[in-house]
Amino acid sequence: MSSDALKAATQFVALNEKSEPYLVGSRCEACDQLFPGLRQHCAGCYSRDCMKQIDLGTHGSLYSYTVVHRSYKGVSVPFVSAVVDMDGGGSIKGTMLNVPPDPDELTFGMPLSVVFRCASCINPEAEGYVSHFFTPALDA
Ligand SMILES: [Zn+2]
Repeated sequence: MSSDALKAATQFVALNEKSEPYLVGSRCEACDQLFPGLRQHCAGCYSRDCMKQIDLGTHGSLYSYTVVHRSYKGVSVPFVSAVVDMDGGGSIKGTMLNVPPDPDELTFGMPLSVVFRCASCINPEAEGYVSHFFTPALDA
């Protein structure tokens, strides 16, 4: 994955000063509620301009999933769409890689790692966009 002219494919992915992707969230300094992606206002307490940008981390655990059998044109199916509780706080939805789309291979709570790939690995039309994916924990 080249870092030249990468663009974030989702609101949850940000690029640091070295163009390295990370999962970004916003924490309210008034009520401590956390949201995935960047926000200016808190949807919990409605405070304005109190959101602090945070890194959601690189690990989490599988909260829920579904095996997707039909998708947009060009997207390979079946694949696993997951909701992951991030160790850094909050929950993020994303596609799982390196797992068979088989419920016998997936366990609620299983440790997962965040990886970043060009989104074209699942959709050829997404060339140039970096996205987050989840894999079984690489260091578990
Ligand atoms: Zn708040």
